[in-house]
Amino acid sequence: MTTLIRAARLADGLSTSSKANQAVLVTEDRIQAVGSAEEITQNAPPGTETVDLGDATLTPGLIDGHTHLSLAGDGRDYAQMFSETDEMMVLTGARNLQLHLAAGITTLREHGARNKVGFILKEGIARSYIAGPRMQVSGRPITCSGGHFHMCNEEADGPNEIRRSVRRLVHEGADYLKIMASGGGTSNTIPGRASYSVDELHAAVHEAHHFHKLTAAHCRAKESMQRAVEAGIDLIEHAEFLDPDNEMRFDPDLADKMAECGTWISPTLQAWTKYGRIVELQGQRTTGFLNKKEQAELQALESRAETRLEVMRRMLDHCKMERIVPGTDSGVGSLAFGHLDYDLRLLVQVGFTPGEALLSATSISAAALGLEQEIGTIEVGKIADLAAFKGDPTEDVLALSEVVAVFQSGVRVL
Ligand SMILES: [Zn+2]
Repeated sequence: MTTLIRAARLADGLSTSSKANQAVLVTEDRIQAVGSAEEITQNAPPGTETVDLGDATLTPGLIDGHTHLSLAGDGRDYAQMFSETDEMMVLTGARNLQLHLAAGITTLREHGARNKVGFILKEGIARSYIAGPRMQVSGRPITCSGGHFHMCNEEADGPNEIRRSVRRLVHEGADYLKIMASGGGTSNTIPGRASYSVDELHAAVHEAHHFHKLTAAHCRAKESMQRAVEAGIDLIEHAEFLDPDNEMRFDPDLADKMAECGTWISPTLQAWTKYGRIVELQGQRTTGFLNKKEQAELQALESRAETRLEVMRRMLDHCKMERIVPGTDSGVGSLAFGHLDYDLRLLVQVGFTPGEALLSATSISAAALGLEQEIGTIEVGKIADLAAFKGDPTEDVLALSEVVAVFQSGVRVL
């Protein structure tokens, strides 16, 4: 089956601006041609179905590098969310996949779930039992005894146990390996403290690369970021520069080291800043319904967010935009699915243009996930994962919150 998709504008994931009067020809699940609407229309084979999206911008489907599908993002803490059964976590994941897909996200990384939940969700999509973005699964995050996310049941201490964990996860179907290099929101762990030595992290990297798998490390502590870079971790999550007292203090030497090593960095800005709540309160302020208590809450949230954004701005004086990968951390706390747009708004707040923010969520993320041959741009031969947004997201980042259409593997799903 061949479909011709046209919209007022097209942003291909390669350029930071959009072009007018373009069209994409899709045959089965691949992009067969892209170019001027007149030319594509003239050369389309007989029987081609045309989809005209009107005043919208066609983009590559968005990529979220950091999600927790099994968690509901409904404000409960880890202990409450992990009291659910695996079966309920699978159902939660099925719901979350749909929320992300409807937001124009056609690929995501599942960053750690309990037992087999992550693998089962991926299998459910492969069998077309449930709809959702294409998934890279880590299975279970590797963590030290009692460490962050130990509830997922992949505890490993020392290089040998870590190697064994990597082998076990790869055998079960992990697409990449996630390792918890510092504490986090799990009780009795310390976000500002590293949880693995360089040797331990290196064992994970070495074993993962042996299987041609990439690695991502949860690093909130400055010390964990240093060790992760030294161990050759491919992607650092959070990068919050926390000291052991859990205070954020930027370190230019560490930022230089990350830049030098070409480490991918996913700053999960939405997670730290509780941006969803900020948007909600700011919306209320615009319409005039903000009581004293809410006013104070908004002020506190905005000032806390500013501390994080300022560290990010300073990091960007050292690290290239081309190595920054947006990620929502959806599922955790009150981070609801369906809002990669929030992370992209925050990237604009730290100095990205809207067009650069769009690249970060498409071609740059595809490269960070090792999927750049298949997705991330609108080019001939790529998988036809596409999204369309009202207006022009390369001019106004808010446009990314208004989804008009979503295509996955050439099939319109919204
Ligand atoms: Zn996470």
